[in-house]
Amino acid sequence: MRIEGIVIIPSMCRGCRSCQLACSYVRHGVFNPAKSVIVMDREVETDHTVPVILPLSCDLCGGNPACLRACPYGAIVANTEHTSYKILVQT
Ligand code: SF4
Ligand code: SF4
Repeated sequence: MRIEGIVIIPSMCRGCRSCQLACSYVRHGVFNPAKSVIVMDREVETDHTVPVILPLSCDLCGGNPACLRACPYGAIVANTEHTSYKILVQT
């Protein structure tokens, strides 16, 4: 099934950076967070790590997001409801 949007769930994120590595690998063939279109941030209010996806650079991997598949904690999931949004952050 082609995924048309993803949702980031900051409360689930453990900051492992697997999503960054997967993104850099599918885009550039290297495991280098600096070549990912994901940057890591931290929510001050909740002290949760948050992967921030640069929307203009992300193509959702053509409908099969590598970051979603790489996340071992379920912090990046398919958006099954609001498909008009490419990337949402759950608040
Ligand atoms: S969906 Fe976007 S952020 Fe995720 S791996 Fe693919 S290009 Fe990177
Ligand atoms: S979103 Fe998932 S893969 Fe990315 S840093 Fe958080 S827990 Fe790790």
